[in-house]
Amino acid sequence: MPGIYIHIPFCRQACHYCNFHFSVSQKRRPEFIQALVQEIEMQKDFLKERSSSTPALKTLYLGGGTPSLLSIGELEQIVNALHKYFAVSASTEFTLEANPDDLTAEKLEGLRQLSVNRLSIGIQSFHDADLRYMNRSHSSRQAVEVLKNAQNAGFENITADLIYGTPGMSDHQWRENIMQLIAYGIPHISAYSLTVEKKTALEVFIRKGKAAAVDEEQSARQFEILCEITGKHGYEQYEISNFGKPGFFSKHNLSYWTGQPYLGMGPSAHSYKQGMRQWNIANTCTYIDEISQGNIPCQKEVLSVDQQYNEYVMTALRTQWGIEKSFINTEFGQMYYQNMIQSAQKHIFNQTLKETDTHLVITQSGKFLADGIAADLFI
Ligand code: SF4
Repeated sequence: MPGIYIHIPFCRQACHYCNFHFSVSQKRRPEFIQALVQEIEMQKDFLKERSSSTPALKTLYLGGGTPSLLSIGELEQIVNALHKYFAVSASTEFTLEANPDDLTAEKLEGLRQLSVNRLSIGIQSFHDADLRYMNRSHSSRQAVEVLKNAQNAGFENITADLIYGTPGMSDHQWRENIMQLIAYGIPHISAYSLTVEKKTALEVFIRKGKAAAVDEEQSARQFEILCEITGKHGYEQYEISNFGKPGFFSKHNLSYWTGQPYLGMGPSAHSYKQGMRQWNIANTCTYIDEISQGNIPCQKEVLSVDQQYNEYVMTALRTQWGIEKSFINTEFGQMYYQNMIQSAQKHIFNQTLKETDTHLVITQSGKFLADGIAADLFI
């Protein structure tokens, strides 16, 4: 079953490390909502298998940007438009990304009324010094309170984002961050190493000596701490950056990684079906203007067999299940299979990859190097 991703390109404040598409100006928000509602209608056939069928959604994901910044009224307009053309049921995993400072008791109640059944909360850290370094819009107190409030409002399926490798965050503080989520019984954690992306404020600050640089060794050490603690507390590392209790793995992410079709709407959103990828322009003003004239401002590409192979290797290697050898053979053929097995040898020797009868799986010591190992297996 397919999924839908909707990109809400507005944030309260610009986090220094962020390279997603967003704007802190809210000026065109009403026009954006109108445009998005219009795009939902324009894209109603993208996921259809037969002309008469209404696509039943396995997952619906509102990301961004900061979807929780929208009022319940604005969110309702989007959800109502979706209901017109797609079957959203109680079994649809409906996730909304939220920042702690937006989730008042009233907002949480409104989200429940809209059938949001999974919250993805951008905690990042429970320490104010880290939050200031990242220029997050919330405080550590709000980070703690939001967990209590979300649970009191009846949300059980909660995932929290954390960032490690932040300069100045000790290993002890990192342990405290993870333990805080565990203490609250949060069933899913996504944790990412702080990376300094090009053209971000963080990159400029570090270059000018105004912010401390990121230390790779600290990141690698804190990744190990993360794996160790989550493992001890019953979380499965089903993907390099994703840790879930049984029954709480993200269906949305799993669909991406297993090549299920999905439709992305809003500026910068990507879509995929049957070897074809499509992405909307990453410019909110152009997006609004084009949609209002009846055009979807997007580009498309048909993935070559090499691209499809590389994408499969990249995503499968990051999961706990690994690369299915027979799948490479049957889907891509002998040449790809031989290339993969040959390129894997040095990593098997270094014990960063493990070969079983059926799969190639990344080992614990290979996990922090996963992207480089995948690149070695590319065609
Ligand atoms: S809230 Fe999220 S999308 Fe917005 S600037 Fe921060 S990290 Fe980026």
